[in-house]
Amino acid sequence: MYTEAAVIGGGAAGFMAAVTAKANGLDIIIMERKDRVLKKVLATGNGRCNYTNINAGISNYYGEDREFARDVLEIFGPENAVDFFEKLGIVHKIEENGKVYPYSGQASAVVDALRFETQRLEIPIYTNFDVSRIKYENSLFKIFSNDGNKIITCKKLIIAAGGCSYPELGSNGSGYRLAEMMGHKSTELRPALVQLKTEKDPVKGLHGIKVNAKITAYYKGKELNSSEGELLFTDYGISGPVVFNLSYLTALYDNLIFRADLMPDYNICDIEKMLTVRKENLSHLTMEDFLVGMINKKLGQLLLKRSGIEKLSLSVEKLSDERITKIAFLIKNYDIKIQETTGFRNAQVTAGGVKTEGVNPKTMESKKVKNLYFAGEVLDIFGDCGGYNLQWAWASGYLAGKSAAGK
Ligand SMILES: Cc1cc2nc3c(=O)[nH]c(=O)nc-3n(C[C@H](O)[C@H](O)[C@H](O)COP(=O)(O)OP(=O)(O)OC[C@H]3O[C@@H](n4cnc5c(N)ncnc54)[C@H](O)[C@@H]3O)c2cc1C
Repeated sequence: MYTEAAVIGGGAAGFMAAVTAKANGLDIIIMERKDRVLKKVLATGNGRCNYTNINAGISNYYGEDREFARDVLEIFGPENAVDFFEKLGIVHKIEENGKVYPYSGQASAVVDALRFETQRLEIPIYTNFDVSRIKYENSLFKIFSNDGNKIITCKKLIIAAGGCSYPELGSNGSGYRLAEMMGHKSTELRPALVQLKTEKDPVKGLHGIKVNAKITAYYKGKELNSSEGELLFTDYGISGPVVFNLSYLTALYDNLIFRADLMPDYNICDIEKMLTVRKENLSHLTMEDFLVGMINKKLGQLLLKRSGIEKLSLSVEKLSDERITKIAFLIKNYDIKIQETTGFRNAQVTAGGVKTEGVNPKTMESKKVKNLYFAGEVLDIFGDCGGYNLQWAWASGYLAGKSAAGK
């Protein structure tokens, strides 16, 4: 079958590319390896789809050359994403830290809006089309399905096959292999926005506990970045938005220390004073209950043990001033040594991807093969947690679609 243009990947970037290309006059089809399209979008934002972030800027993105994302985001910023979806019927709601969701609170609304738009524009969608090979001959792309049954020939091709995170939702890393067939190299790949496995001691018995904390990541004593929000303890380590936000650092550094400030609203002197007053007021209690009402009870008990108190049955009365200083210090500096991530299976995004040096940031066109374009997570760009990754998918998809249509 012949078509003017084709997109590999029926995800966020692929849909945006196809809709934009067709709206600008280019006949285009979408090929998707799964039985349904937009599976990942449906799972985003805990089923609510945090589809952009009004604060999205270059500092929220990472890659060997993050500057690559600057032009793309300037051409199609978060306000464009909000407008685009508003026109498709999605009323937006801005929540904490600039996160944007559909007002209905349903990721399925975003999926439906995109499906309706492809129907309106009469864009054919081929599901169960797992592209395994591409050949470029006589200025035409030949695209082969993995079962050997389907071949598509087209003049323009957009690779939007995603990364290799969360493979059950479709993206299994094949985009990198397809890019390689076209002469494009990829960087090292690592899971990002992912739960972390840690040393056991600081998390023992805390499984399921959520606290508000400010975490600062350190590598060899050097402060790298910090984030404040919900910290979730798991049986293997730590998770939650605050961990996701910093987990990209595991793609860059080994042996990280995450230093949790468990009372970010107070400075260490205030905490020390607070503990001294508590000692006076609560002298009838044992250490087991000393921090109750100040920080989570189980976390408090583990923290007291880590401060050197072996027996929590000890009376609060016996607490020395040195110990109070140590407890206050630990509340502000609860160190957790990171071991590894929980892997691609659980990662929201892939850090790394097709090297951006081979792609024109003004058009998303390959510098190696004419009429070949890239969009979305398959490229070596990923963002913070909070709507930034879908923003990248929409922005890069928009630019690829528009350029493919010659606009
Ligand atoms: C659980 C979860 C929650 C998330 N929540 C958010 C959120 O709230 N906000 C946010 O901004 N980001 C979120 N993300 C990240 C965001 O969803 C992705 O970064 C974004 O969807 C990437 O879009 P994409 O189109 O580049 O890739 P994908 O969405 O992965 O789409 C790629 C598509 O290509 C198809 N494909 C792959 N290979 C082939 C092939 N060889 N042939 C044919 N088809 C192929 C895949 O099946 C897939 O449908 C979340 C991710 C996950 C996993």
